[in-house]
Amino acid sequence: MKSENVNGVKTKKKQPRTKLKSVNFTMWGYFCILAVFLIFALELVFYSVVAGTFGNQARQRVERIGKEVCLELQSDFPVNVSIFHRYAGDGVYVYIIDRFGNVVSPQAPAAEVNENVVNDLLNYLGGYGSGSEITFRSGEGINYGAKLKQRYNGYYVLVTYSLSIVKDTVGTLQLYLFIVGVVILALSFLISFLISQKITRGLKNMSDTAVELAKGDYNVKFVNADYREMAQLSDTLNHVCEEVKKSEDFQREILANVTHDLKTPLTMIKAYASMIREISGDNKEKREKHLKVIEDEADRLTGLVNDVLSVSKLQSNLDVINPKVFNLTELVYGIINKFGYLQETNGYGFMLDIDKDLYTRADEEKIKQVIYNLLGNAANYTGEDKTVYISLKQSMDGRRIKFSVRDTGKGIAEEDLSEIWNRYYRVKENHNRPVKGTGLGLNIVKVILKNHSFDFGVDSKINGGSTFWIDFPSVPSEIDIL
Ligand code: ADP
Repeated sequence: MKSENVNGVKTKKKQPRTKLKSVNFTMWGYFCILAVFLIFALELVFYSVVAGTFGNQARQRVERIGKEVCLELQSDFPVNVSIFHRYAGDGVYVYIIDRFGNVVSPQAPAAEVNENVVNDLLNYLGGYGSGSEITFRSGEGINYGAKLKQRYNGYYVLVTYSLSIVKDTVGTLQLYLFIVGVVILALSFLISFLISQKITRGLKNMSDTAVELAKGDYNVKFVNADYREMAQLSDTLNHVCEEVKKSEDFQREILANVTHDLKTPLTMIKAYASMIREISGDNKEKREKHLKVIEDEADRLTGLVNDVLSVSKLQSNLDVINPKVFNLTELVYGIINKFGYLQETNGYGFMLDIDKDLYTRADEEKIKQVIYNLLGNAANYTGEDKTVYISLKQSMDGRRIKFSVRDTGKGIAEEDLSEIWNRYYRVKENHNRPVKGTGLGLNIVKVILKNHSFDFGVDSKINGGSTFWIDFPSVPSEIDIL
């Protein structure tokens, strides 16, 4: 059943749970239908093949006997009675009839063919030529026979056979087949019931485990090794379980980190505000110094809050890219200047290798955020020499721009390399951090660059520092375009 929602999207109407069919019952039903169909087809094939074969065999026998009797009679006439005994039996009878319709031999016809029958028969035979074959009903109305007549010296050889024998044999075989069919059907009902039970038991277990998971127990384990597909599903669900658990842990950790990181500047702001009121109020120089601390701490708070907001905005895809052509060189210099305070007060050094007036096409504000985050990380994690190397170079063919920022820090372990781009991921180590972080910075970088479809990455060695890089397209400046 299909319905249309306000957006014009076709959706399937949900059926009430009680109306849905159970997998177990459906599978069993299909198995049973298949078994009935197979057995019915088998009986049909048997009946047409076996019954036909028996009939043909009887007819061939009559034909053969007729020919053989005719051959013997050519040399041996009047007839030796033993010939009839030799061929007769199993419902087959042999007669010799003269042209007037009298049975010449044997003298006393078998009960199967009484006088009336022979007369009826001869009426028939009058209309048939040599070698013709007819089917007739005996006087008692019980037996059917197929006949063959062969002409010899004005005499006829008549061979009869009883169709009822063929019918009886086929009937007996059919009965056996029917009994076997019923037994097989009963067995297949039972086996299919057991199989469907076994398969659905696995599904039921998984569904019970999923209910536990939904209740918030992330330590549950989906176990199902009976069937490959279900084992794969179990693996996937176990993986989902681990990921949800990890994400929960990370979120808890980040909440702890953020609240911790928020507390420090707040305490500082409060402390310096009290100091201004109580101590430095009239001392302009001291007051300016204290106000500067308050300003810096407020900036740090704003940075933190912005990070958290950016991530949630980017992740919910509310953010749209607004690309335009801008001077990337100027943008990079602008950000480096923002970190000037680190150079002046903390002895940090920025080594630059930057080409002049490189233009790219991207969302300027977002790229600013990306480069800001990468430079902040480099300053955070660089080594004792407090040096950060920044490079912005155009490729030889002039079509690409490579931005890279290198530090001399401890580097990133191989197993962490792919993880650092994830939300809330922080390598568990204490760093000297002049720029406060939330574990969100690289995730913001990743989402923004992916939205732009720009190549980016990191090369890092333990104790060999890290280099984060981005590959921008190089475009002519707006002036060049005009
Ligand atoms: P954070 O705010 O913790 O710096 P990020 O998302 O920016 O969060 O980085 C995630 C993690 O990646 C960091 O906690 C740090 O362990 C690691 N990392 C990022 N940049 C570097 C770097 N330049 N050198 C070493 N480790 C880094």
